[in-house]
Amino acid sequence: MRSEVFDILLKTTGYQYVPYTSSLLQRDSNLFFLARGDKSKYLVIVGESAVCGLFRGIYERSIRNLEENQKLKIAPTTHENLQILRRLFPHLNPSPCGLKKSFGTGDRLGIATPAHVKAFEGKDIFPFFAQQSVRELERTRRNWEDVMDSAIWGCFEAGYKGKFGADADHVKDPDKLVEAVECGYTMFTIDPSDFVRNTSTMSPEKKKEIYGSISKRSELERRYLNRKYEIEGQVLIFDEDSLVDAIVTYFDALKFVREMYETLKTYKSDGFDFEVSVDETDTPTSPLAHIFIVEELRRMGVEFTNLALRFVGEWQKAIDYIGDLKKFEREINLHAAIARHFGGYKLSLHSGSDKFSAYPAFSQATEGLFHVKTAGTSYLEAIRVIARKAPELYRRIHRFALERFQIERRSYHVTTDLSKIPDLDSIPDEKLEDFLNANDSRQLIHITYGAVLTARNEDGSYLFRDELYRVLMENEEEHYECVGKHIRRHLEMLGTKR
Ligand SMILES: [Zn+2]
Repeated sequence: MRSEVFDILLKTTGYQYVPYTSSLLQRDSNLFFLARGDKSKYLVIVGESAVCGLFRGIYERSIRNLEENQKLKIAPTTHENLQILRRLFPHLNPSPCGLKKSFGTGDRLGIATPAHVKAFEGKDIFPFFAQQSVRELERTRRNWEDVMDSAIWGCFEAGYKGKFGADADHVKDPDKLVEAVECGYTMFTIDPSDFVRNTSTMSPEKKKEIYGSISKRSELERRYLNRKYEIEGQVLIFDEDSLVDAIVTYFDALKFVREMYETLKTYKSDGFDFEVSVDETDTPTSPLAHIFIVEELRRMGVEFTNLALRFVGEWQKAIDYIGDLKKFEREINLHAAIARHFGGYKLSLHSGSDKFSAYPAFSQATEGLFHVKTAGTSYLEAIRVIARKAPELYRRIHRFALERFQIERRSYHVTTDLSKIPDLDSIPDEKLEDFLNANDSRQLIHITYGAVLTARNEDGSYLFRDELYRVLMENEEEHYECVGKHIRRHLEMLGTKR
């Protein structure tokens, strides 16, 4: 019966739908799998009519040759249908990760999860297949629900039965947080950067003024001033300067984190992963600042599982680490030692794409107590497929990206030099892919994704979007292969075992 079911679909529908055999799931005498139609994917159910009746479909008929009352139903991959499928198969629901080593694979296009699943095969690392930041949601005009649904349909397609998480990334306001809770996210990354103050560019007078306005300052001084921490052989002491810096920089930010945490506790009754991310600051987080953040969060009763710091060097989007690796190694060793000293949380590394040279040190120092996030790198691999298979479309995207770059770069920290990108017209089709291997053009394409995915013609139709998805659908295997290989390389560089 199990394998016959694919033939039933093919024959009954005149080969209009092609099954993804990996997706087959069974519950009692009912079978469920995903199939590909002309333009989109569909959920296929072969089973009792009562079970088929749970789903809203576009096609339903009784099947001869099958037991009585059996039906074939074809249903669109909607949110409602997925909710029912998730109730029948609880492994399709995300769950918290805790302190296991973990890796998040952002998927801006919402079609890469099957490739991500493949990349994780046989690796001892917990995947976050649903992960998107609020900024990415805005740029791609997606929402939490869509990101979650795409990832779960992808798990279903690939036949993934393991655990996975869903990370609502870089959340900066309570409304977005509550929305993510309601959508069933299991990890919440709070970004307090609107409240972080940059002391490195502040005048001493200004710093003094702000410090003076913090009513809790004498209490904080009593708690921390001259306090000594012995961290694996190193002694760290808060002197007046370092304490004032830590307080001025982070005090309000941590207050905000606590408010967000309390909101979360009110709305979410079951367990979750909680990340505090101060990675998008102007200057690296000092070891003492790290200590201050942890001590204060603990004191306020914020139970966090992950902490994302800003590390030394350049962590630019889509390219390898820029900076002194030795210096980074020393720094990460100390931060990891601090994390071990306090215990109970992982260090989180953002902008993971594609920090291959920094991964080994990061993985070793943290001894597996880490989380890594990549976001845009899967999109770039998708564009690689466009460059190979639809050169003319790639050229249009590239030209458009050049026009939009100055606007789009504003919210990213990058040092992209457009003058280093070779003239598009001088590059033959078979070499277009090279643009995705060079830093400046990689960032050009990386940063402009929002504009590319949402730009419209005067008549309201999409400039690139529909065509881009069509090409990727037509070349699905190659797309999965490209993305899977790339993410696998990330996991391998992090030293995750087979
Ligand atoms: Zn980040």
